[in-house]
Amino acid sequence: MPRCLHTFDSGFQCISEAVEPTDLCEAHQKVVAFESERLLDSIWRKAFFRLVALLLLLMFLIPLFYTLRDLYLGPPVKAQEDW
Ligand SMILES: [Zn+2]
Repeated sequence: MPRCLHTFDSGFQCISEAVEPTDLCEAHQKVVAFESERLLDSIWRKAFFRLVALLLLLMFLIPLFYTLRDLYLGPPVKAQEDW
């Protein structure tokens, strides 16, 4: 049986034997469950921040797009109006 991979705050590794599928002893199974929950939470947070970043990018890009369009397509339209 392999040793539990959990490391205490003091730096010592847990001396208990690991349960097969998880590489951790029974005492530290809960820690794993908690960390995977936190990992899932951070994934959602990452997705949320990515969405916000995308929205901010669009908010900056849309006016830029219209500015550029006015800059390059604007003069001919005004010229037509002048004729
Ligand atoms: Zn352990």
